[in-house]
Amino acid sequence: MEKLRIEKAEKLGLCFGVRRAMKLLKEATGRHGRIETLGPLAHNRLLVEALANLGVEPVDGLDQAQGKILAITTHGTSPAVLSEIRARHIAIIDTTCPIVRKAQKTAKELAQAGCDVIIFGEAEHSEVKGLLGWAGDRGIAALDVNRLDISRKLQARLGIISQTTQTPSAFFGFAGQLISTLGPETEEMRLVNTLCQVTQGQQDAAVTLARNCELMIVIGGSNSANVRHLVETCSPLVETHLVESADDLNESWLVGRRHIGITAGASTPDEAVEELTVRLMSL
Ligand code: SF4
Repeated sequence: MEKLRIEKAEKLGLCFGVRRAMKLLKEATGRHGRIETLGPLAHNRLLVEALANLGVEPVDGLDQAQGKILAITTHGTSPAVLSEIRARHIAIIDTTCPIVRKAQKTAKELAQAGCDVIIFGEAEHSEVKGLLGWAGDRGIAALDVNRLDISRKLQARLGIISQTTQTPSAFFGFAGQLISTLGPETEEMRLVNTLCQVTQGQQDAAVTLARNCELMIVIGGSNSANVRHLVETCSPLVETHLVESADDLNESWLVGRRHIGITAGASTPDEAVEELTVRLMSL
C-alpha cells in the first residue's frame, strides 16, 4: 500500500515582520507589564490568544486604551493616529513591519511629489487605512478599478502602489486596467511595487506544491488577507481547504488521498502548523 505523504510548502508560516513584532512586544511586557495594541497584532486568533497570555491585549480604538503604553501593530497606522496618541501622552511601541513602513514612505513621497496616490487594496484593512493617511488627502484605495471613488478629477500625475499582501498578478492586472482608462490629461504615472516579497515567496511555494499534491490544507485566520490569497491561488489547481486550527480538519477530505500539501499564512503560529501536521499523520 502506498504510504501517506504529508508535505509542507517550501516557504510557509510566520513571517519576519510578525516575529519581529512579537519579540518587541514580549520585551516590552518584560519591562512594563501589560501592554495594549491598537487592534490585533495580526489577523490570527491563535496568535492573539498566545500574546494575551503574555499580557498583550488588543483594543479596538484609542478611546478604549486604558494604559500609558500603546503598541502599533505590524500593519502600521496613519500620522494622524500617531499624533493623537502623542497628544494623549501615551507612549508608543511601534511594531510596524519594515515592508509596510516602506510602502507608507512611498505613499508620502508620491503625494509630496504632487501625485494622486491610488492604492490597490481593501479600503477597510488597517494597513490600507494607514497608507491612505500617509498619502494625505491625495489617497484613494480600491480592489476594483470600477469601484475607485474618483469623485474628484484626478491630478495629471498619478502614483500606483499596493497593499503589501496582495498578489503580483492582481496588482499588475489592476494597474493595467487603470492605465487603459486614463485619458491624455494624465502626464505622468509612477507604478511602485510595494508588495511583500515574503508573502510572494509563500504563494509561489504553495502553487508548486498544489500542482503536485492531491489535497491542499491552508492553515491561518480567515480574516487574514494573505491567507485568503493562498486559498485563492491553490483552489484552481487542487482541492483546497482553509482551517484555523487542526480541530477544523474534516476526515472526509482525506479519503483516498495519498499526498497532502500544507501551507500557512504569514501570521500562523509555528505550533499551529506543527499540530496540524501531527494530526494529519495520526488520521
Ligand atoms: S506579511 Fe510581509 S508585510 Fe506583512 S508583516 Fe509579514 S513581512 Fe511584513
